Amino acid sequence: MIRTPRKALIIGGGIAGPVIAIFLRKAGFDAAVYEAWPYATGIGGGLQIAPNGMHVLGALGLADEMICRGAVCESFDFYARNGNRLGAINRNMKERFGQPPVNMRRATLNEVVIDKAWCAGVELYFEKRLVRIEDRADQPIIAHFDDGSSAEGDFLIGADGVHSTVRQHVVPDGPRPFDTGLIGFGGFAPRAVLEDAAIGPRMEATFGRSGFFGYGYCSPDPAAGAMWWSTQPSRGLDAASYRAMSQQALRQHLRDFHAGWREPIRRLIDAADTIGVTDTLDVATLPNWSRGRTMLIGDAAHATSPHAGQGASIALEDAVRLSRLLIEEELRAAFEKFESERRPRVERIVALARRNGGNKREFSATGAWIRDRMMQLLLPLGAKGMDWMYAYNPDSVMPRPETSGPHYRQVA
Ligand SMILES: Cc1cc2nc3c(=O)[nH]c(=O)nc-3n(C[C@H](O)[C@H](O)[C@H](O)COP(=O)(O)OP(=O)(O)OC[C@H]3O[C@@H](n4cnc5c(N)ncnc54)[C@H](O)[C@@H]3O)c2cc1C
Repeated sequence: MIRTPRKALIIGGGIAGPVIAIFLRKAGFDAAVYEAWPYATGIGGGLQIAPNGMHVLGALGLADEMICRGAVCESFDFYARNGNRLGAINRNMKERFGQPPVNMRRATLNEVVIDKAWCAGVELYFEKRLVRIEDRADQPIIAHFDDGSSAEGDFLIGADGVHSTVRQHVVPDGPRPFDTGLIGFGGFAPRAVLEDAAIGPRMEATFGRSGFFGYGYCSPDPAAGAMWWSTQPSRGLDAASYRAMSQQALRQHLRDFHAGWREPIRRLIDAADTIGVTDTLDVATLPNWSRGRTMLIGDAAHATSPHAGQGASIALEDAVRLSRLLIEEELRAAFEKFESERRPRVERIVALARRNGGNKREFSATGAWIRDRMMQLLLPLGAKGMDWMYAYNPDSVMPRPETSGPHYRQVA
C-alpha cells in the first residue's frame, strides 16, 4: 500500500482559509490556498474576535500577538442616543472563558495569519479566482481559475466567504446572499478621541430611533487606534450607491444621521481617516455543506449578518474542527461529522445575529422607548444566556492531535 500525504486545495485567503491550511500543514498534509485578490495590506475595517475565536488563535500560537497588536475589550456598554445607560454585557470574559475578546483591524489579522501560513510551508497563490470545480471518480479533484490555470488535489475546502463560488458547486441553484436592509459605515480615528471621552477598555454602542453607532480601541497606533461603525436602515440606497459618494458627502450623511447623538460620536465621524461602506448580507440555511470531495467552511457555509460579532470567530472554529477531523477520520466521515457537529451551533448563532439586527431598524418614538426599556431589563439576563457561545474551546471538544512529524494517509 502506497501511503501519500493528502493535498488540500483551499479556496479563499481571508480568515478561515489560511487558518485551516496552517492546521493541516502542521499535521503533514500539503495545503495550497488560492485567493482571488492580489496580496494587499491595510484593507478592511475593524472587528472583534470573541473568546471562542481567540482560543483558536491561541491554538495557532497567535493569541498573544493579536492581543499586543489589537486591544482587549473588557465590556460592551449600551446607551440610548440621549446618553441614558441601557446596560452592559461581556464583563470579565478572560476570567470566565480563558481568553478575552480582542478588537483588531481585519487587515492585521489577515496579515498575521498569512504570514504564519507562509512560515508553516503553506503554498499561497494570489490573483487566483476560482471559477469551476471538476470532481470525477478516480481522478484528482481539479480547481479551475479565471486566468486559465488549474490545480489538482485530494479534496477541496471552500473558504471563499459570503459570495462563495464553491457554494454554487456544492449547492447548485442554492441560496444567494440577500441584503438585510441595513448598511454599515465604518472607519478608524486617532486614539485621542476615545482617550478624551475616557471610555476605558470598553466598547460603547448607542441606539437611536433607527440605527446604531459603536466604537472602541482596536490597536496601540496613536493615529488610527480607535475603530467605529454605524449601522443604519438603507432607506432605498444600496451600499454601491453610498460608495459612489465622495468622502465629504459620506461624512455629511453620517453627521446628519447621528445629529444630536451623544459624544464622542460626532468627533469620531469628523476624525475618521477614510469612511468605508458595506452591505449587511445574510444567506439562508444551506441544505448541505459538502458535495463529493468539497466542503464549505466559514461564511461560505453559514454567512451571518454581523450583529452577533461572531462570523470570524465561528469561521476560526470551523477551521480547527475540520482540520482535526480530517486528521482523525477518512474524508467522508470527517465531512459528515463536521457538518452534524457544527450545524446546530452555527445556526443558533446566525439566528441570534438576525434577532440583534432587528434592534437597529426604524422605530417610532414609542417603539424606541419600549426597546430601550426592554434592553435595560433583558441585558443582564441576555448576557448570561450567551455563555454557551463564548465558552467554546476546541481543546475541550476534542483532544489536540499529535502534530509532531508528518501524518500520512492513503489516497482514496
Ligand atoms: C461590517 C462587518 C463587520 C463584521 N464584524 C465582525 C466582528 O466584529 N466579529 C466577527 O467575528 N465577525 C465580524 N464580521 C463577519 C466576518 O467578517 C466574517 O464572518 C469572516 O470574515 C468570515 O471569514 P471567512 O474566512 O469565511 O471569509 P472571508 O474573510 O470573507 O474570506 C473569504 C476570502 O475568499 C476570497 N474569495 C472569494 N471568492 C473567491 C474565489 N472565487 N476564488 C478565490 N478566492 C475567493 C475573498 O477575496 C476573501 O479573501 C463582520 C462582517 C462585516 C461585513
